[in-house]
Amino acid sequence: MRILLTNDDGITAPGLVAMYRRLCELGDVDVVAPETVQSATSHGITIHAPLMTARVKVGELFEGTAVAGRPADCVKLAVHAILPERPDLVVSGINSGANTGINVIYSGTVAAAIEAAFLGLPAIALSQYLRADVEPDYDRAADLALRVIRALLERGIDKGGVVSVNLPVLAPAGATPAVKVVRQCTRSWGDEYEKRLDPRGREYFWNSATYTLEYSDDDTDVAALREGYVTITPLQFDLTHYPTIQRWQEGRWEI
Ligand code: MN
Repeated sequence: MRILLTNDDGITAPGLVAMYRRLCELGDVDVVAPETVQSATSHGITIHAPLMTARVKVGELFEGTAVAGRPADCVKLAVHAILPERPDLVVSGINSGANTGINVIYSGTVAAAIEAAFLGLPAIALSQYLRADVEPDYDRAADLALRVIRALLERGIDKGGVVSVNLPVLAPAGATPAVKVVRQCTRSWGDEYEKRLDPRGREYFWNSATYTLEYSDDDTDVAALREGYVTITPLQFDLTHYPTIQRWQEGRWEI
């Protein structure tokens, strides 16, 4: 199996490096990932500027292609121009930080997976929930992620299917967490902007909100991750609101 590995934290991010090591057990892994951190850049692509690339050696582990672009650029470029053949699977992550709730929309990690789905490739986005009091252990996270990937491949991911997986905080020497398949929470999170002054006295603002897993209904990714489950959320990129389509298609539209 050929696997394309990418992310939004940059090609040397610890989550990607740990995942590379584990994914090699599944097949041949090619890494094409952003040169710099692209978190929360969503589904942006680069069309009015060149996409500079560089071959980068990451430790003794692998050599991959670093792209001075967005996560979605990496997937497009890899599939259309860099890889010798189409991958059988695209994995994005492991992201440093959860991608639950509406973060799914902001996420570059998820966008890379969705881009793969646009191209008809099965894709999995992986994210590790971080909590300030627990040091993340990406090797354990990658172990767990590989087990989830195997289980997903066994069940089969539809062509054009995207799966978002979130890993809970992994306490040292804790038991293997259970899996919950859950919907995406759609509540907004409390934005806060700190007002500051630049050296010339002009006002500027800095988003100072920290994303927590506080506000949610009980049946969502946010709630399950907070309770310590591995969450699996199958996603779709068709944003059409079908109930409204049906309602509005009835009758003639006089304008
Ligand atoms: Mn990120």
